[in-house]
Amino acid sequence: EPVLKIEHLTKVYPDGTVALSNTSFDVHPGEFVVVIGSSGAGKSTLLRCINLLVEPTEGDVIFKGEKVNQSKSKQVKHIRREIGMVFQNFNLIDRLSVLNNVLHGRLGYTNTIKGSLGIFNKKDIKEAEAILERVGLKQQKYKRADELSGGQMQRVGISRALAQMPRLILADEPIASLDPASSKNIMDHIYNICQEDQLTAIVNLHQVDVALKYATRIIGMQHGQIIFDGHPSQLSDKV
Ligand code: ADP
Ligand code: ADP
Repeated sequence: EPVLKIEHLTKVYPDGTVALSNTSFDVHPGEFVVVIGSSGAGKSTLLRCINLLVEPTEGDVIFKGEKVNQSKSKQVKHIRREIGMVFQNFNLIDRLSVLNNVLHGRLGYTNTIKGSLGIFNKKDIKEAEAILERVGLKQQKYKRADELSGGQMQRVGISRALAQMPRLILADEPIASLDPASSKNIMDHIYNICQEDQLTAIVNLHQVDVALKYATRIIGMQHGQIIFDGHPSQLSDKV
């Protein structure tokens, strides 16, 4: 049973740009899917349709057997919590501590302001600290997010996604803003955590070499369409 089904997904932006064109594929539990393609191929739009940041023009996103793009808003919130998102530019709340950023993943953004006033309970804090320890950031928990290096910021981004207790991790160019050493560290963390916690992942990348190193499956996109879908070894045969 697939964890995610993408059925005939099309996205046309208001200016007429066709970012996704009749795209279909299934993702099974435990897959580490890497989507590759040059800038403008539609990778970001695809992930944003899956977590409902973007509304598809046509087609369906089916998560755990449920059509998420037609759910009522309350259900959408619930579903979105099982989909953890990691962004290229980290999307942290700069003025807040590392720990608070992670807690917001756990408690939801609606509680952001209340959270800053201290509604977090001991259990939530312990959980957040345990996640930070996994990514080697326990020492930094009281630092402001904007005092961190890029690699550290992305480890907070990963921690925040994990704090949601997701089934599915979506990462949109998670290493595009990082130097090579941090990039390897971040990809290792994402990959290892998905293995350990049996999470399914879809990771957008534009570097084919990185994709080949981590992916259990590669989807190649161009002009909003899938032009390759298979095992990394099949792609290396072609390159
Ligand atoms: P990628 O992630 O592969 O770089 P995107 O999904 O960001 O691809 O973009 C696919 C296409 O859609 C590009 O032509 C891009 O300029 C366009 N696009 C992305 N976002 C928007 C938007 N909000 N409005 C209009 N066009 C957009
Ligand atoms: P990426 O390369 O990660 O897709 P971009 O720099 O292309 O990032 O896009 C940054 C933001 O601008 C995104 O929110 C994207 O949706 C939006 N965007 C991209 N292309 C267009 C466009 N042609 N018109 C309007 N918004 C766009």
